Amino acid sequence: MDLGIKGKKALVCASSKGLGKGCAMALAEAGVDLTICSRTESAITATAEEIAGKTGVSVTPVACDITTAEGRAKALAAAGDIDILVNNAGGPPPGNFRDWDRDDWIKALDANMITAIELIKATVDGMIERKWGRIVNITSSSVKAPIPILGLSNGARTGLTGFVAGLARETVRDGVTINGLLPGPFDTDRLRGNMNAQAEKAGRKPEDLAAERAAGNPAGRFGTSEEFGVWCAFICSQHSSYLTGQNILLDGGAYPGTL
Ligand code: NAP
Repeated sequence: MDLGIKGKKALVCASSKGLGKGCAMALAEAGVDLTICSRTESAITATAEEIAGKTGVSVTPVACDITTAEGRAKALAAAGDIDILVNNAGGPPPGNFRDWDRDDWIKALDANMITAIELIKATVDGMIERKWGRIVNITSSSVKAPIPILGLSNGARTGLTGFVAGLARETVRDGVTINGLLPGPFDTDRLRGNMNAQAEKAGRKPEDLAAERAAGNPAGRFGTSEEFGVWCAFICSQHSSYLTGQNILLDGGAYPGTL
C-alpha cells in the first residue's frame, strides 16, 4: 500500500532504539525524511546511518535530552518545518507513590506529558498553516488500564491523553490529526530491563520470567518494534486523515475489556 507520504518531513523523538526506532524505520520506508534524536550521540548516529542506508531517505541525528527545553530547541532547529511529529521519551521508574515527592512527579510530568505538549505547541500551528500534519504520541497501555507499580506513568500519560483529546478536535478541520499509540508489552531494552529487575527481586532467571510473561499474553508473545512502527506510519499516512483524538492499543489482546 502506498501511504502517500513520500517526501514529507518528520521528527521522531527518542528513537535510537526500541519503539521510536521502529516508528522512524517504518516512516523512512514510506519515503519520509527524518530527524531522529536520543541522548547518546554514538547510538543516534549509528541508527541514522542504518535507516538512511536501508531506505535512502535523509536522516538527521540529533543528540539531545528531549525532556529539556534546550534539547527540544536543538531537535526542532535541526528538523525545521515538519509534517509529522512522533512524541516519545523514556518512561518513569516504577515504585510506590508513598515514596515519591513533588520532584519525582514533576520529572515524570515533564518527560511524559509536558515535553509532548511543548513539541506540539512548537509545531502544530505550522502544520495548520500548511493544511497537513500528523502527530502521534507514544504513551502506554497504562492509559487504558493502569499498571499498579507505574503510578508516575499512569498519571503523566493520562494527563497528556486528556489534553490531546481536546486539541485533536480543533486541528482536524485543517488537516492535522493527533492520536495516541498505546504499547502493551513490546520486546525492547526497556521491557528486558524491567524484567531483569523483577527477576532479580524474585530470585528468578530473567529468561524464565520473560518466557512466562510472553506466554501469558493472549498472543503468546511480546510485540516487536517493527510491527509497532508500521502502525505509526499508517496513522501518519494520507489514509488516516479521518482518524483523530483516538488511542490505539497494541497489546496482543492483553486488555480484557470488550471495548
Ligand atoms: P527503549 O528500548 O529503552 O528505547 C528508548 C529510546 O528513547 C532510546 O533510543 C533512548 O536513547 C531514548 N531516550 C530515552 N530518554 C530520552 C530522553 N530524555 N531524550 C531523548 N531520547 C531519550 O524503550 P522503549 O521500550 O522503546 O520505550 C519507549 C517508550 O514507550 C517509553 O516511554 C516506555 O515507557 C513506553 N512503553 C514501552 C513499553 C514496552 O513494552 N516496551 C510498554 C509501554 C510503554 P538514550 O537512552 O540514548 O537517550
